[in-house]
Amino acid sequence: MRFKDQVVLITGASSGIGEDTARAFAEEGAHVFLVARRGDKGENVAQSIRDAGGSATFFKADMGKRNEIEAMVDACIATYGRLDIAFNNAGIEGDFFVETHKHSEQAWDDLLAINLTGVWYCMRHQIPHMLKQGKGAIVNMASMAGVKGFSGSSGYAASKFGVVGITKAAALEYATQGLRVNCVCPAVIRSEMAEKIFLQTEESAAGTAASHPMGRIGEPREVSNAVMWLASDEASFITGEALQIDGGLGA
Ligand code: NAD
Repeated sequence: MRFKDQVVLITGASSGIGEDTARAFAEEGAHVFLVARRGDKGENVAQSIRDAGGSATFFKADMGKRNEIEAMVDACIATYGRLDIAFNNAGIEGDFFVETHKHSEQAWDDLLAINLTGVWYCMRHQIPHMLKQGKGAIVNMASMAGVKGFSGSSGYAASKFGVVGITKAAALEYATQGLRVNCVCPAVIRSEMAEKIFLQTEESAAGTAASHPMGRIGEPREVSNAVMWLASDEASFITGEALQIDGGLGA
């Protein structure tokens, strides 16, 4: 029960890594404030956490819309009175395996709006509450595509390199004020997004697995465990870290 009675806000919690992280924090005693665009799916995840004896509230918001991000943080504070941990995880894949000169303008704009500006705007509204409390931990979702080039992913790469950048800048700004800011950089992890990009056929799934030195892709819990550790007091001297969770891909 490492997170007993701590309030944890998680965006993109209706599926994949965000959903699993919400379950994992709840299993360790946290009050989880789940956020996603898809109302039914998000509410179902929150209900199943409550059915299992956990504490969870769902809030519907689009990370591409600033007024909804502001309302999300306000609602979390109104519900629980504080915010201890934020996992800014929501993201889209946009144009993948598309060369830079063929990347659509709409996909570029959406990728930066949701994956990068959305994370910055979350932090903009989360940080004042954490500073007031004198303690807080933010974990942002970047990607291995935020630390290393992958051909055909320029828009996604721009958004995720940006997440690593704002994570490091903010880590320095608040380092003496009780606030730690880190991000995670997963390689391919089993999720709806990975299914769409990498796992559509048996052949592409096998090729994707083989491209990781461990010979397999990762599971959501392998990311959740790292997020929880970074958010916990066990990582009390760690800030500004871009932690690769990658089966050796970046080695
Ligand atoms: P996923 O598609 O299952 O989850 C994405 C989540 O984000 C969903 O809940 C979706 O509804 C939500 N979301 C998307 N756009 C949103 C918006 N505008 N507002 C609110 N919620 C929104 O896929 P996932 O793999 O779990 O992705 C989670 C994060 O992990 C993403 O940021 C993704 O870029 C990142 N990531 C994934 C992988 C991977 O291989 N799965 C690797 C590296 C990084």
